[in-house]
Amino acid sequence: MAKVVVSLGMGVDSVGVLTRFLLEPETRDFDLDDLIVMTSMTGDEFSETAEHMERFVLPLMRRFSVRYVQLSRGGQLAASRYAVLDDSRQPRRMRMAGPWRLRDEQLGNGTVPQFASNRRTCSIKSKGEPLDWWKQDNLDGQPYQHVLGFSAEEGDRILKDSVYASSSRLARFPLAEWGWTRADTRGYLHEVFSTAWPRSCCVYCPFALSDPEYLAGRWRREPEGAALALLMERRSLALNHRATLFSRGSALQFAIDHRLDHVLALTEEMLHGGPWALYDVRRIYHPATDKQTRRHIATKKGAAWRSVTTLAEGTRDQMAGELHRLARSHRAEPRTDEFAITRARIRAPDVGRYPATEQFLSVGPAGVHDKQRKSFAGLWTRLVDQTSLFAA
Ligand code: SF4
Repeated sequence: MAKVVVSLGMGVDSVGVLTRFLLEPETRDFDLDDLIVMTSMTGDEFSETAEHMERFVLPLMRRFSVRYVQLSRGGQLAASRYAVLDDSRQPRRMRMAGPWRLRDEQLGNGTVPQFASNRRTCSIKSKGEPLDWWKQDNLDGQPYQHVLGFSAEEGDRILKDSVYASSSRLARFPLAEWGWTRADTRGYLHEVFSTAWPRSCCVYCPFALSDPEYLAGRWRREPEGAALALLMERRSLALNHRATLFSRGSALQFAIDHRLDHVLALTEEMLHGGPWALYDVRRIYHPATDKQTRRHIATKKGAAWRSVTTLAEGTRDQMAGELHRLARSHRAEPRTDEFAITRARIRAPDVGRYPATEQFLSVGPAGVHDKQRKSFAGLWTRLVDQTSLFAA
Protein backbone atom coordinates (compact mmCIF):
# COMPACT_ATOMS: atom_id res chain seq x y z
CA MET A 1 0.00 0.00 0.00
CA ALA A 2 1.30 3.47 -0.91
CA LYS A 3 2.30 5.75 1.92
CA VAL A 4 -0.04 8.58 2.86
CA VAL A 5 1.63 11.83 3.90
CA VAL A 6 -0.37 14.44 5.77
CA SER A 7 1.18 17.91 5.75
CA LEU A 8 0.21 19.17 9.19
CA GLY A 9 0.50 22.95 9.23
CA MET A 10 -0.96 22.93 12.79
CA GLY A 11 -3.83 25.23 11.81
CA VAL A 12 -7.55 24.57 11.69
CA ASP A 13 -7.68 22.84 8.30
CA SER A 14 -4.93 20.24 8.54
CA VAL A 15 -5.65 19.49 12.21
CA GLY A 16 -9.30 19.00 11.26
CA VAL A 17 -8.39 16.48 8.55
CA LEU A 18 -6.06 14.49 10.81
CA THR A 19 -8.49 14.47 13.71
CA ARG A 20 -11.35 13.20 11.55
CA PHE A 21 -9.14 10.55 9.93
CA LEU A 22 -8.26 9.27 13.41
CA LEU A 23 -11.65 9.50 15.10
CA GLU A 24 -13.79 8.47 12.12
CA PRO A 25 -11.96 5.65 10.30
CA GLU A 26 -14.67 5.44 7.63
CA THR A 27 -13.42 8.81 6.28
CA ARG A 28 -10.14 7.27 5.10
CA ASP A 29 -9.18 4.48 2.73
CA PHE A 30 -5.76 3.60 4.14
CA ASP A 31 -4.24 1.85 7.12
CA LEU A 32 -2.72 4.00 9.87
CA ASP A 33 0.54 2.03 9.53
CA ASP A 34 0.93 3.72 6.13
CA LEU A 35 0.32 7.22 7.47
CA ILE A 36 3.15 9.73 7.99
CA VAL A 37 2.23 13.10 9.48
CA MET A 38 4.77 15.84 8.87
CA THR A 39 5.35 19.41 10.05
CA SER A 40 8.19 21.70 9.09
CA MET A 41 8.75 24.43 11.68
CA THR A 42 9.41 28.05 10.84
CA GLY A 43 10.63 28.43 14.43
CA ASP A 44 8.47 31.51 14.92
CA GLU A 45 4.93 30.30 15.61
CA PHE A 46 2.79 31.66 18.42
CA SER A 47 3.25 29.57 21.54
CA GLU A 48 -0.51 28.90 21.80
CA THR A 49 -0.13 26.74 18.68
CA ALA A 50 2.41 24.50 20.43
CA GLU A 51 0.24 24.40 23.55
CA HIS A 52 -2.83 23.30 21.60
CA MET A 53 -0.85 20.68 19.70
CA GLU A 54 0.58 19.19 22.90
CA ARG A 55 -2.73 19.26 24.72
CA PHE A 56 -5.04 17.91 22.02
CA VAL A 57 -3.28 16.46 18.97
CA LEU A 58 -0.23 14.65 20.34
CA PRO A 59 -2.35 12.54 22.74
CA LEU A 60 -4.46 11.48 19.73
CA MET A 61 -1.35 10.56 17.75
CA ARG A 62 -0.04 8.53 20.66
CA ARG A 63 -3.38 6.77 21.07
CA PHE A 64 -3.35 5.67 17.41
CA SER A 65 0.47 5.25 17.16
CA VAL A 66 0.70 7.65 14.25
CA ARG A 67 4.15 8.39 12.93
CA TYR A 68 4.84 12.13 13.38
CA VAL A 69 7.94 13.68 11.79
CA GLN A 70 8.89 17.18 12.96
CA LEU A 71 11.44 18.99 10.82
CA SER A 72 13.04 22.32 10.23
CA ARG A 73 15.28 23.70 7.55
CA GLY A 74 18.88 22.79 8.36
CA GLY A 75 20.37 26.20 7.56
CA GLN A 76 20.23 29.18 5.28
CA LEU A 77 21.75 27.41 2.29
CA ALA A 78 19.92 24.66 0.43
CA ALA A 79 22.99 22.47 1.03
CA SER A 80 22.05 22.32 4.75
CA ARG A 81 18.80 20.58 3.74
CA TYR A 82 16.67 19.71 6.78
CA ALA A 83 17.01 18.77 10.43
CA VAL A 84 14.81 16.06 11.95
CA LEU A 85 13.64 17.43 15.31
CA ASP A 86 11.54 14.40 16.23
CA ASP A 87 10.33 11.25 14.48
CA SER A 88 8.12 9.14 16.68
CA ARG A 89 4.89 7.15 16.99
CA GLN A 90 4.66 8.36 20.58
CA PRO A 91 5.40 12.10 20.25
CA ARG A 92 5.40 13.84 23.62
CA ARG A 93 6.66 17.34 22.83
CA MET A 94 6.35 19.83 20.04
CA ARG A 95 9.77 20.82 18.74
CA MET A 96 8.89 24.25 17.49
CA ALA A 97 12.36 25.41 16.39
CA GLY A 98 15.37 23.81 14.79
CA PRO A 99 18.87 25.04 13.96
CA TRP A 100 17.46 27.61 11.51
CA ARG A 101 14.51 29.90 12.02
CA LEU A 102 12.75 32.03 9.46
CA ARG A 103 13.60 35.12 11.51
CA ASP A 104 17.31 34.40 10.85
CA GLU A 105 16.72 35.10 7.19
CA GLN A 106 14.43 38.10 7.62
CA LEU A 107 16.51 39.83 10.29
CA GLY A 108 19.82 39.02 8.58
CA ASN A 109 18.61 40.39 5.24
CA GLY A 110 16.78 43.35 6.76
CA THR A 111 13.50 42.39 5.13
CA VAL A 112 9.96 41.40 6.04
CA PRO A 113 8.30 38.27 4.57
CA GLN A 114 7.40 38.91 0.98
CA PHE A 115 5.40 37.73 -1.95
CA ALA A 116 7.48 37.16 -5.10
CA SER A 117 5.70 36.26 -8.33
CA ASN A 118 2.58 35.54 -6.30
CA ARG A 119 4.39 32.96 -4.13
CA ARG A 120 5.10 33.17 -0.42
CA THR A 121 8.83 32.65 -0.58
CA CYS A 122 9.10 32.49 3.22
CA SER A 123 6.75 29.53 3.34
CA ILE A 124 8.49 27.69 0.51
CA LYS A 125 11.85 28.12 2.20
CA SER A 126 10.81 27.21 5.74
CA LYS A 127 8.20 24.55 5.02
CA GLY A 128 7.94 23.43 1.39
CA GLU A 129 11.59 22.72 0.69
CA PRO A 130 12.46 20.82 3.93
CA LEU A 131 9.33 18.65 3.55
CA ASP A 132 10.16 17.88 -0.08
CA TRP A 133 13.78 17.05 0.74
CA TRP A 134 12.76 14.68 3.54
CA LYS A 135 10.33 12.89 1.23
CA GLN A 136 12.98 12.60 -1.47
CA ASP A 137 15.33 10.94 1.05
CA ASN A 138 12.81 8.74 2.82
CA LEU A 139 10.15 7.63 0.35
CA ASP A 140 12.66 6.29 -2.20
CA GLY A 141 10.70 7.73 -5.12
CA GLN A 142 7.75 5.45 -4.27
CA PRO A 143 4.28 6.78 -5.15
CA TYR A 144 2.48 8.39 -2.20
CA GLN A 145 -0.74 10.19 -1.47
CA HIS A 146 -0.17 13.74 -0.32
CA VAL A 147 -3.00 14.93 1.92
CA LEU A 148 -3.46 18.69 2.11
CA GLY A 149 -5.82 20.64 4.33
CA PHE A 150 -7.28 23.01 1.74
CA SER A 151 -10.88 23.79 2.58
CA ALA A 152 -13.81 23.58 0.17
CA GLU A 153 -13.73 27.30 -0.61
CA GLU A 154 -10.06 27.21 -1.63
CA GLY A 155 -10.54 26.11 -5.23
CA ASP A 156 -7.75 28.43 -6.37
CA ARG A 157 -5.17 26.82 -4.09
CA ILE A 158 -6.28 23.36 -5.16
CA LEU A 159 -5.89 24.34 -8.80
CA LYS A 160 -2.48 25.89 -8.14
CA ASP A 161 -1.32 22.72 -6.41
CA SER A 162 -1.92 20.76 -9.61
CA VAL A 163 1.23 22.50 -10.95
CA TYR A 164 3.23 20.26 -8.60
CA ALA A 165 1.67 17.02 -9.84
CA SER A 166 4.20 14.26 -10.46
CA SER A 167 4.15 10.57 -11.22
CA SER A 168 4.95 9.73 -7.58
CA ARG A 169 2.67 12.23 -5.84
CA LEU A 170 -1.10 11.98 -5.81
CA ALA A 171 -2.60 15.03 -4.07
CA ARG A 172 -5.75 14.60 -1.97
CA PHE A 173 -7.94 17.35 -0.55
CA PRO A 174 -10.27 15.67 1.97
CA LEU A 175 -11.95 18.89 3.14
CA ALA A 176 -12.98 19.69 -0.42
CA GLU A 177 -14.09 16.05 -0.89
CA TRP A 178 -16.27 16.38 2.24
CA GLY A 179 -17.48 19.84 1.19
CA TRP A 180 -16.13 21.31 4.42
CA THR A 181 -15.49 25.04 4.62
CA ARG A 182 -13.08 26.59 7.13
CA ALA A 183 -16.08 27.38 9.35
CA ASP A 184 -17.20 23.73 9.23
CA THR A 185 -13.75 22.52 10.27
CA ARG A 186 -13.48 25.10 13.03
CA GLY A 187 -16.88 24.00 14.31
CA TYR A 188 -15.85 20.35 14.18
CA LEU A 189 -12.67 20.98 16.19
CA HIS A 190 -14.65 22.95 18.71
CA GLU A 191 -17.05 20.04 19.10
CA VAL A 192 -14.22 17.50 19.52
CA PHE A 193 -11.80 19.48 21.70
CA SER A 194 -14.08 22.14 23.24
CA THR A 195 -11.66 24.88 22.29
CA ALA A 196 -11.35 27.51 19.57
CA TRP A 197 -8.47 26.19 17.47
CA PRO A 198 -5.86 28.94 16.95
CA ARG A 199 -4.59 29.94 13.52
CA SER A 200 -1.13 28.71 12.77
CA CYS A 201 1.26 31.41 11.57
CA CYS A 202 4.49 33.20 12.39
CA VAL A 203 4.26 35.94 14.99
CA TYR A 204 5.25 38.46 12.29
CA CYS A 205 3.19 37.08 9.40
CA PRO A 206 2.13 40.05 7.22
CA PHE A 207 -0.87 38.12 5.97
CA ALA A 208 -2.35 37.92 9.48
CA LEU A 209 -3.66 41.46 9.05
CA SER A 210 -6.66 39.99 7.25
CA ASP A 211 -8.24 39.77 10.75
CA PRO A 212 -6.88 42.79 12.67
CA GLU A 213 -8.78 42.22 15.92
CA TYR A 214 -7.64 38.60 16.11
CA LEU A 215 -4.04 39.64 15.49
CA ALA A 216 -4.23 42.40 18.11
CA GLY A 217 -5.51 39.86 20.65
CA ARG A 218 -2.65 37.48 19.89
CA TRP A 219 -0.02 40.22 20.10
CA ARG A 220 -1.53 41.32 23.41
CA ARG A 221 -1.28 37.75 24.76
CA GLU A 222 2.23 37.18 23.33
CA PRO A 223 4.02 40.55 23.48
CA GLU A 224 7.51 39.07 22.92
CA GLY A 225 6.42 37.75 19.52
CA ALA A 226 4.88 41.09 18.64
CA ALA A 227 8.06 42.91 19.68
CA LEU A 228 10.02 40.63 17.35
CA ALA A 229 7.68 41.68 14.53
CA LEU A 230 8.25 45.35 15.31
CA LEU A 231 12.02 44.88 15.49
CA MET A 232 11.98 43.07 12.14
CA GLU A 233 10.05 45.93 10.63
CA ARG A 234 12.47 48.51 12.05
CA ARG A 235 15.47 46.78 10.47
CA SER A 236 13.64 46.51 7.20
CA LEU A 237 12.72 50.21 7.26
CA ALA A 238 16.33 51.17 7.90
CA LEU A 239 17.14 49.81 4.43
CA ASN A 240 13.92 50.73 2.65
CA HIS A 241 11.59 53.42 3.99
CA ARG A 242 8.60 51.79 2.27
CA ALA A 243 9.18 48.27 3.63
CA THR A 244 6.63 48.16 6.45
CA LEU A 245 5.48 44.78 7.75
CA PHE A 246 1.99 45.14 6.31
CA SER A 247 1.26 46.26 2.79
CA ARG A 248 -1.47 48.50 4.22
CA GLY A 249 0.68 50.15 6.89
CA SER A 250 3.25 49.64 9.59
CA ALA A 251 3.27 47.22 12.50
CA LEU A 252 4.24 50.15 14.70
CA GLN A 253 1.09 52.08 13.79
CA PHE A 254 -0.96 48.91 14.24
CA ALA A 255 0.40 48.51 17.78
CA ILE A 256 -0.28 52.18 18.55
CA ASP A 257 -3.81 52.03 17.12
CA HIS A 258 -4.62 48.92 19.15
CA ARG A 259 -3.06 50.33 22.33
CA LEU A 260 -0.57 47.50 22.64
CA ASP A 261 1.41 49.48 25.19
CA HIS A 262 3.27 46.49 26.59
CA VAL A 263 4.41 45.53 23.08
CA LEU A 264 5.59 49.08 22.39
CA ALA A 265 7.47 49.25 25.70
CA LEU A 266 9.14 45.87 25.09
CA THR A 267 10.18 46.91 21.57
CA GLU A 268 11.64 50.16 22.84
CA GLU A 269 13.53 48.23 25.52
CA MET A 270 14.98 45.86 22.91
CA LEU A 271 15.94 48.72 20.62
CA HIS A 272 17.40 50.78 23.44
CA GLY A 273 19.44 47.92 24.88
CA GLY A 274 20.65 46.49 21.56
CA PRO A 275 23.44 47.67 19.26
CA TRP A 276 22.79 50.03 16.36
CA ALA A 277 24.55 50.25 13.03
CA LEU A 278 25.37 52.78 10.38
CA TYR A 279 24.49 51.26 7.02
CA ASP A 280 25.61 52.26 3.54
CA VAL A 281 22.76 51.25 1.23
CA ARG A 282 23.09 51.37 -2.55
CA ARG A 283 20.68 50.38 -5.27
CA ILE A 284 20.96 49.91 -8.97
CA TYR A 285 17.63 50.15 -10.78
CA HIS A 286 17.77 48.33 -14.08
CA PRO A 287 15.61 49.23 -17.05
CA ALA A 288 12.60 47.00 -17.65
CA THR A 289 12.78 44.53 -20.52
CA ASP A 290 10.11 44.27 -23.19
CA LYS A 291 8.81 40.68 -22.97
CA GLN A 292 8.44 40.28 -26.71
CA THR A 293 11.45 42.07 -28.18
CA ARG A 294 13.73 41.47 -25.13
CA ARG A 295 14.90 45.07 -25.56
CA HIS A 296 15.48 47.37 -22.59
CA ILE A 297 12.98 50.15 -21.99
CA ALA A 298 15.08 53.02 -20.64
CA THR A 299 12.07 54.92 -19.29
CA LYS A 300 10.62 52.03 -17.30
CA LYS A 301 12.00 50.67 -14.00
CA GLY A 302 12.90 46.99 -13.94
CA ALA A 303 14.64 44.86 -11.31
CA ALA A 304 16.52 46.52 -8.44
CA TRP A 305 19.80 45.24 -6.99
CA ARG A 306 20.68 46.19 -3.44
CA SER A 307 24.01 46.39 -1.68
CA VAL A 308 24.23 46.78 2.11
CA THR A 309 27.44 47.48 4.02
CA THR A 310 27.71 48.05 7.76
CA LEU A 311 30.07 50.97 8.24
CA ALA A 312 30.06 51.03 12.05
CA GLU A 313 28.27 49.69 15.14
CA GLY A 314 27.63 51.27 18.53
CA THR A 315 24.88 53.02 20.44
CA ARG A 316 22.10 54.81 18.62
CA ASP A 317 23.59 58.23 19.53
CA GLN A 318 27.08 57.23 18.41
CA MET A 319 25.77 56.04 15.05
CA ALA A 320 23.68 59.17 14.57
CA GLY A 321 26.80 61.25 15.29
CA GLU A 322 28.80 59.26 12.74
CA LEU A 323 26.04 59.63 10.16
CA HIS A 324 26.00 63.41 10.63
CA ARG A 325 29.79 63.55 10.21
CA LEU A 326 29.73 61.56 6.95
CA ALA A 327 26.67 63.40 5.68
CA ARG A 328 28.47 66.75 6.14
CA SER A 329 31.36 65.54 4.01
CA HIS A 330 28.88 64.68 1.25
CA ARG A 331 26.89 67.89 1.74
CA ALA A 332 23.86 65.71 2.49
CA GLU A 333 21.16 66.60 4.96
CA PRO A 334 20.16 63.92 7.51
CA ARG A 335 16.47 63.48 8.25
CA THR A 336 14.73 61.39 10.92
CA ASP A 337 11.39 59.81 10.02
CA GLU A 338 8.39 58.75 12.11
CA PHE A 339 10.08 55.41 12.86
CA ALA A 340 13.09 57.22 14.38
CA ILE A 341 15.26 56.09 11.46
CA THR A 342 17.83 58.73 10.48
CA ARG A 343 18.96 58.78 6.84
CA ALA A 344 21.17 60.94 4.64
CA ARG A 345 20.74 60.62 0.91
CA ILE A 346 24.06 60.71 -0.91
CA ARG A 347 22.81 59.97 -4.37
CA ALA A 348 19.22 60.24 -5.62
CA PRO A 349 18.10 58.05 -8.52
CA ASP A 350 17.47 59.81 -11.79
CA VAL A 351 13.77 58.91 -11.88
CA GLY A 352 12.45 58.14 -15.35
CA ARG A 353 15.83 57.14 -16.81
CA TYR A 354 17.27 53.64 -16.25
CA PRO A 355 19.66 52.22 -15.23
CA ALA A 356 19.71 54.54 -12.24
CA THR A 357 21.66 54.53 -8.98
CA GLU A 358 20.74 55.46 -5.42
CA GLN A 359 22.82 55.66 -2.25
CA PHE A 360 22.00 56.65 1.31
CA LEU A 361 23.36 56.25 4.81
CA SER A 362 21.00 55.03 7.46
CA VAL A 363 21.05 54.37 11.20
CA GLY A 364 19.05 51.32 12.27
CA PRO A 365 19.16 48.33 14.63
CA ALA A 366 22.36 46.35 14.01
CA GLY A 367 22.43 42.82 12.65
CA VAL A 368 21.76 43.10 8.92
CA HIS A 369 24.41 41.12 7.05
CA ASP A 370 26.57 42.83 4.44
CA LYS A 371 25.31 41.67 1.10
CA GLN A 372 25.73 42.38 -2.58
CA ARG A 373 25.79 40.19 -5.64
CA LYS A 374 29.16 39.56 -7.26
CA SER A 375 28.68 41.81 -10.27
CA PHE A 376 27.28 44.72 -8.23
CA ALA A 377 30.57 46.54 -7.57
CA GLY A 378 31.72 46.46 -11.20
CA LEU A 379 28.40 47.72 -12.50
CA TRP A 380 28.16 50.38 -9.78
CA THR A 381 31.61 51.70 -10.71
CA ARG A 382 30.64 51.83 -14.34
CA LEU A 383 27.42 53.71 -13.59
CA VAL A 384 28.71 56.15 -11.02
CA ASP A 385 31.58 58.56 -10.61
CA GLN A 386 32.49 56.84 -7.40
CA THR A 387 33.59 58.90 -4.45
CA SER A 388 34.97 57.24 -1.37
CA LEU A 389 32.73 57.42 1.67
CA PHE A 390 35.64 56.66 3.85
CA ALA A 391 37.96 59.46 2.73
CA ALA A 392 36.24 61.99 4.96
S1 SF4 B 1 3.08 32.11 8.38
FE1 SF4 B 1 3.36 33.94 7.11
S2 SF4 B 1 5.47 34.62 7.54
FE2 SF4 B 1 5.29 32.50 8.27
S3 SF4 B 1 6.00 31.26 6.58
FE3 SF4 B 1 3.79 31.40 6.37
S4 SF4 B 1 3.44 33.16 5.01
FE4 SF4 B 1 5.56 33.28 5.75
